[in-house]
Amino acid sequence: MDEFELIRRYFAHVGADRADVRLGVGDDAALLEVPAGMQLVASVDTIVAGRHFPPGSDARSVGHRALAVNLSDLAAMGATPAWAMLALTLPDADPDWLERFAGGLADLAKAHGVALVGGDTTAGALTVTVQIMGFVPRGTALRRSGACAGDLLAVTGTLGDSGAGLALATGSLRTADSAVAHELIERFEYPTPRVEFGLAARGIATAAMDLSDGLAGDLPKLASASGLHAHVDVERLPLSDALQAIASTEQARAWALSAGDDYELLLALPRQHHDSLRASARQLNLRLSVIGELRRGNGVSWTLQGSELAHPVEGYDHFRRASTQITD
Ligand code: ADP
Ligand code: MG
Repeated sequence: MDEFELIRRYFAHVGADRADVRLGVGDDAALLEVPAGMQLVASVDTIVAGRHFPPGSDARSVGHRALAVNLSDLAAMGATPAWAMLALTLPDADPDWLERFAGGLADLAKAHGVALVGGDTTAGALTVTVQIMGFVPRGTALRRSGACAGDLLAVTGTLGDSGAGLALATGSLRTADSAVAHELIERFEYPTPRVEFGLAARGIATAAMDLSDGLAGDLPKLASASGLHAHVDVERLPLSDALQAIASTEQARAWALSAGDDYELLLALPRQHHDSLRASARQLNLRLSVIGELRRGNGVSWTLQGSELAHPVEGYDHFRRASTQITD
């Protein structure tokens, strides 16, 4: 199978059919129509074997995650996803692997109405880059800046599951409860980007971002972009039953703060809008938890039942700390 046959077979018709794709896979570049009155929202993210997922991961999960992490960025902007491009670097052209990879990508793309409109294919160590593009009505995108002192800090879903799931998948954590193990590993392998909730929060939240590097790593970015201090009551962090079934509350909170890969949304929310956004979340079968508030000042603070946390908390940083990397 040569490169062109590979592209034709696995990537020529992935995702939704969209009328705004005038020219998709097959020419030198794609031709795409941005609807009138809309702004193009674009983001790109790379996942690398041994760094972002264990080598030997199911290819279906790799395809899903490569798109999911990008959809999560659009969710955080309150954008409607439309188009994706895929730059794929592969050690070899294994048909079974490609079939599963393209399947994982295609299922999630279809679920969100996204068309794969182009990409690039090269040989080398397994690395998957997806660029996502979507729309917001002009001037309505959610940003990290824009929060006000007094706004509530809220998160969707539960935190820390993915961190525990990765530890289970790589064997550094064990449990005899296979249903719980399966649930947590799925949270790592098949994260759910909160696209519909991001749309519901547009025009209501004053600031938003997605959580990819752990709350402790990401919250300072929102606080600093908004020019405020962010305070978190650590006892309010939403923890799933599955996570609490395999870990002490202390360990579960440590994952929730630092593990990363949650792909939940973090939002700043005027107090008067809390009830209505919570109702939107409920309609989507999603938890929305208030975990703290924005205050005048800068930096972040963490308390547990009113007392400052004893240990400083840190998120994941690829260049500063490599302790959470999957392999050497
Ligand atoms: P060029 O040499 O002009 O860059 P390529 O051979 O790289 O062309 O790609 C041919 C066509 O296939 C282009 O339309 C490109 O966008 C698309 N393509 C290449 N690789 C992928 C991929 N992995 N997924 C989707 N489309 C791809
Ligand atoms: Mg090319």
